This record gives sequence, C-alpha cells and structure tokens, in this order.
Amino acid sequence: MDCDILIIGAGPAGLSAAVYAARAGFKTMMLEKIGAGGQMMLTDKIDNYPGFPEGIAGFDLQNKMLFHAKKFGAKLHYGEAAKIEKTHEGFSIALTDGKIMNASSVIIATGASHRPLGVPGEVEFANKGVSYCGTCDGPFFRGKKTIVVGGGDSALTEALFIAKFAKEVTIVHRRDRFRAVHSLVKQIEMIPIIKTKMNATVEEFCGAESVTGVILKDTVTGEKTNFATDGVFIFTGLIPATNFVPAELLDGQRYIITNEKMGTAIPGLYAAGDARSGAFRQVICAASDGAVAANYAGEWLEAKHGNAYKN
Ligand code: NAP
Repeated sequence: MDCDILIIGAGPAGLSAAVYAARAGFKTMMLEKIGAGGQMMLTDKIDNYPGFPEGIAGFDLQNKMLFHAKKFGAKLHYGEAAKIEKTHEGFSIALTDGKIMNASSVIIATGASHRPLGVPGEVEFANKGVSYCGTCDGPFFRGKKTIVVGGGDSALTEALFIAKFAKEVTIVHRRDRFRAVHSLVKQIEMIPIIKTKMNATVEEFCGAESVTGVILKDTVTGEKTNFATDGVFIFTGLIPATNFVPAELLDGQRYIITNEKMGTAIPGLYAAGDARSGAFRQVICAASDGAVAANYAGEWLEAKHGNAYKN
C-alpha cells in the first residue's frame, strides 16, 4: 500500500482532509494534478472564511492549509487520476502517466472546473481576450474595456476585482436578476465603472489577433448587437472533475453522491467538496467536508483493520 488514506485533489476539501487524516496518525497522501489550492488559487480575496475578517488571498489560505497538512506528515504527489478500482485490500488508482497507486481508503476531493460558454470564437480566442480567471488575467486589462459573463457569485466577485484595473466592466447576464448573493449585488452597484446588461447572452466572439468585440443577443426581443470589448471573462458555473469516478456513484450532473459521512456507495471511498452532489460550494464547506470524510475514512479503516494502521 502507498498509504492508508489517499486524497485525490488538494483544494480546501483535500487539504482539510489531509490535516485531519495525518493528524489522526494515518499515512496520508494527496494526489494533485497541477498545484494545491484548487479554485481558491483563482480567488483574489476570500472574505467569508471565519477568522479572517479583513479577508485573505486564496493563494495565502492555500499556503497555510498546505503547510498545516504537511506539518502533520501528509505527503503531496503530483499526478492525475484516470481510473479508480476497488481491490480486495482497498483501492487501486491508475494515473494518466501509467503509474498505479494503492491505498486502503480514498477521499475524492477533485472539485470542479469552469464551464465554457460553447459559442463560436471561444476556443480560438482563449488567452487572446477570453479568460476564465479574473485574478490571473485581470491585471492584463488595465485601462481596457471588459465584459464579465454570468450572474453568480463568481461573476460578481471577479467583476469587482477586474474593476480595479479595467476602464469599464460590463456584466452580461442572461436573466433579469442576478443569482449572486445580495451583498455582492450591492457592492457592484456602488462601482460606477461596473455596468450591467441584463437579459443578454454572448452569441459569438469577434476579432482577429485578439478579441475586439462580441455579438450580444437580447433574450427578450431576440435583437442582436455588436458590442466592442478588449476582453471577456466567463463565469458560467462549474463542471465537476469526476471523469475517473465510476458512473454508478454520480448524480445526473456527474457530481458524486454521498451520505452524511461523506461516504459513497462503495465502502472505504469518500468524497468531499465541490465534486460532491448537493454541496454548498464555499471554501469553508469544502474544508468541513474534508474533515468529515477524513474522520469517517479513519473510523472505517480502524473498524476493518484495528489500530494497526496508525503510525
Ligand atoms: P453559478 O452559481 O452556477 O452561476 C453561474 C452563472 O452563470 C449563473 O448566473 C447562470 O445563469 C450563468 N450561466 C450558466 N450557463 C450560462 C450560459 N450558457 N450562458 C450564459 N450564462 C450562463 O456558478 P458560480 O458563480 O461559478 O458559483 C459556483 C459556486 O461557488 C456557487 O455555489 C457559489 O455560491 C460559489 N461561490 C462562492 C463565492 C463566495 O462565497 N465568495 C464566490 C464564488 C463562487 P442563471 O442565473 O440564469 O442560471
């Protein structure tokens, strides 16, 4: 066995699970595709994580969580899960690089990634005016005209960040009401350079070397107009990173179904955070899920094998 508890994904859910699992004495390993932190790394400021009343940068919170998990002995391995199988002893996880990892118990905390708009020009203009990360790309649009697509918490949070650099930010939303929480709606209303275009969708991206505009469609009248812009930031929701998870564990939107112990239908296999069905997608909730999953993964291991697993 490579470890007692393998945690796939090192965002807030995975990092929190690692803190709890390693601190409880289990040989704990995190498997991470790119870098720890998950979507937190794309967030300029998290201002609703208890204990940080002034807010904390996603990057800083990630650093603290990773340091914390490593302090208790959790290890970080870089790689991407391609398939997970139950074995007699536990679980076998095939990685995309061909490596196989074996673990007695597994917590899936792979989170979710951005949902593309799926309109002409989006792929061609990726990184040439089309972005999915305000924190990463906002500073490139200093003094420029920008559009933010979407009406959820991400769209409004990112619009506030991009407005620190851009000359103008126009939020394009397909309905007449934002999905985002009231406090964010109030904040954007107070920034004069943030405008809104409600009942509108982006139908196409226009430009040559980079984006110079979009075609907007009024969802009420059907009228199409050209709208000049230097950049478009897309925040139209999330797709769970569950491609490697057996289909029978997923709901209709491919999120992992769990019970209150974060257990899936396969004993010893747990899920935590944004990849989980019904999750309230907040950093604090992901961290809570991770703690719960690690606790019950530990209980399950001890019930199955006794205390032999403890370091
Ligand atoms: P979301 O809440 O699912 O919002 C997605 C937005 O994109 C919605 O306004 C939706 O419109 C719109 N949309 C979806 N598909 C579209 C399409 N094809 N064309 C145009 N618009 C489209 O996603 P999110 O904002 O990324 O947030 C995800 C989760 O993370 C949420 O649970 C959110 O609360 C959480 N989050 C929290 C914070 C925070 O607490 N500070 C920050 C960011 C995210 P409709 O409204 O019409 O469906």
